Amino acid sequence: MTKPYRLRLPGPTPVPERVREALARPVVNHRGSEFEAVVRDIESGLQSIMGTRNAVLQFAASGTGMMEACLANTMGPGDRALFLCNGQFADRFAAIAEGLGLQADRLEVPWGEAVDIAELEARLAATEYRVVIAIHNESSTGAVSDLAAIGAAVRKTPALLVVDSVSGLGGIEMQQDLWGVDILVSASQKALMCPPGLGVVSASEKAWRIIDDNAPRARYYWDFRKARDNALEGQTAFTPAVSLAFGLQEALRMIEAEGLDNVLARHARLAAALQAGAAALGLPVFTRSPIRSNTVTVLQLPEGQEAGPIARHLYETHGTVIAGARNKLRGTVIRFGTMGHCDGADILTDLEHLEATLDALDWDIERGAGVSAARAALDAG
Ligand SMILES: *Cc1c(COP(=O)(O)O)cnc(C)c1O
Repeated sequence: MTKPYRLRLPGPTPVPERVREALARPVVNHRGSEFEAVVRDIESGLQSIMGTRNAVLQFAASGTGMMEACLANTMGPGDRALFLCNGQFADRFAAIAEGLGLQADRLEVPWGEAVDIAELEARLAATEYRVVIAIHNESSTGAVSDLAAIGAAVRKTPALLVVDSVSGLGGIEMQQDLWGVDILVSASQKALMCPPGLGVVSASEKAWRIIDDNAPRARYYWDFRKARDNALEGQTAFTPAVSLAFGLQEALRMIEAEGLDNVLARHARLAAALQAGAAALGLPVFTRSPIRSNTVTVLQLPEGQEAGPIARHLYETHGTVIAGARNKLRGTVIRFGTMGHCDGADILTDLEHLEATLDALDWDIERGAGVSAARAALDAG
């Protein structure tokens, strides 16, 4: 018997059987009509989830590659970017800019909090930026950005709003066109229920004016212009991750069949249930932002307790795989994914295992309290 293995990370997330079957299909000619239908299908499925009428471009890349691609297509020597830094992924985005030799200014926000719009407006009034970068769902802290408000501020300026929704898209609401998000990037392995390796992006007309201008830019593989010209033909510029595209097509069909509104409501219900259960065990949510993530739950450990032994015990005893932190929060928080292919039974099992683990580690908890609080939340929701 194989050991149970419950992938409960905030990405990668479990891949449903239907998607795994699609991944196993024979590879086809990526320039043929069969694959063209897949490319077009993925584009229209993603357009509804992104809330956009823009073309959707597909790359063989992880999320980080897509972040770099955004900068490569919009920034050149002398251009300045403003990074809204409230967690690890915003910091990574700024580090990518520095790696490319670009000007990266930061608006520092305490981790777990949301960006202050007045402060953003003041920075935009003081300096002309080519791009403003925000993380939709900061997976390190569980904070969700108010993109409608950020978009309203950036829209009044020549700057482009670039948004990383790698861990948001498909799990929390996205309205790219309505909110004024100029470039939106995401990846396959979080709420989109696929293995890692496929990156997606869509750009507004305002963004295309910058992407298409003749300013010097260091881009080749990432060139959105080549990708768009090919997308119009139902193709990608270079050899795509054919099997992953089959998987994503199937995952998007599953989302469509469930109904996007139902999918988003399920994420909200599961996050609320996990958080209610954790609170009953004395584990509050770390996030202080007024909008909390429905895809990632970040729990604050009491003073003197360490994340390492909890994650290790959950894995070794129950096969439940959760995340800690690989940044300045290391040791002080534990993180669960509540996104993609999961349901209420997964949340109840998470809490059952967490209770058993905390008990084994001699925490003073009431066995059963977490599971019953979560069950009550699921019944109420
Ligand atoms: C997972 C994630 C990424 C992408 O990471 P990769 O490992 O490169 O796919 C980027 N941003 C956020 C907010 C994420 O959660």
